[in-house]
Amino acid sequence: MFVVPESEIAGLVSAAQCFEAVEAVFSAMARNEACNFPVIREAIGHADALYGFKSGFDRAGKVLGLKSGGYWPGNAERGLTNHQSTVVLFDPDTGRPAALVGGNLLTALRTAAASAVSIRHLARSDSRVLGLLGAGHQSAFQMRAAVAERPFEKVVGWNYHPEMLPRLAETAAGLGLPFEAVSLEDLGAHADVIVTISSSFSAQLMDAHVRPGTHLACMGTDTKGKQEIDAAIFARARVFTDEVAQSVEIGEAQHAVAAGLIGAGDIVQIGEVINGTAPGRQSEDDITLFDGTGVGLQDLAVAARAVAAARAKGVAVEVDL
Ligand code: NAD
Repeated sequence: MFVVPESEIAGLVSAAQCFEAVEAVFSAMARNEACNFPVIREAIGHADALYGFKSGFDRAGKVLGLKSGGYWPGNAERGLTNHQSTVVLFDPDTGRPAALVGGNLLTALRTAAASAVSIRHLARSDSRVLGLLGAGHQSAFQMRAAVAERPFEKVVGWNYHPEMLPRLAETAAGLGLPFEAVSLEDLGAHADVIVTISSSFSAQLMDAHVRPGTHLACMGTDTKGKQEIDAAIFARARVFTDEVAQSVEIGEAQHAVAAGLIGAGDIVQIGEVINGTAPGRQSEDDITLFDGTGVGLQDLAVAARAVAAARAKGVAVEVDL
């Protein structure tokens, strides 16, 4: 098997390659050629840690494996990242382990790729202002991936902790774009595309803030109880997701479904739009909403690309297990 250390990942896969990998696996999921298996996530009763794994098989891409890891809140004090993940790939023909891959940077890249896929397929083509709700670690990745999809001229942002906003300003500056910190009202009034990426447990962006024509990529809610936007927005939006079952259970849609505002049948897998088997945006006034919950197949798809690149570059370490 091959080992690809975390330290090598940055030089191996570009954001564009992650986009292609994630778009392809969303497409395969909608053709029933790729399947995520039930997710395990448990508080282990040690170090306040949440541990779990996500696994799946992409028959189309022949990628089988799992991502394991979770959240260790004490890691920062040790100089380590709180979120930790590692991907294990298996040979689908034999079950033999094929690769062990550092999954931290890949998680950030695949999450950014998912919102970028939604922007490419659902946002208005004349979108010029990008909005960010959230200014944590993941926000910079989401912004960089988003700006590749439309000729954005400006970035506006809001964050629950205003002291974190410089991260958005610096990221925008690095992309050559002006940045403005705004109120939630102005975020909704000025942004054509809004990416939400916070760990909020209550609605921040409200129904009255969002105008017709907006594309929302809701990426922060990946657990029961989390919430970033007003559930009422779902009632007037066209709703898309990576995986419907996960969207209803742990995604942003959980609250709208629980409140009876929409049902699972109102949520469209984005792979259907990619494949042309379901319509995406139908009018300039549609509010399109992508509920990006994060599926294991995204991790496997980008890890497989990283392994191929590492082998080609000669930086994959071969071990006999
Ligand atoms: P981070 O810890 O670096 O940043 C947290 C962000 O949430 C900051 O913007 C912070 O100000 C905000 N926040 C914290 N407490 C809040 C509160 N009470 N109300 C509103 N906002 C609050 O985290 P990150 O790595 O940037 O990740 C952000 C979120 O995205 C997390 O919830 C994480 O679980 C989620 N995530 C989702 C996916 C996916 O595939 N959907 C992938 C990775 C991360």
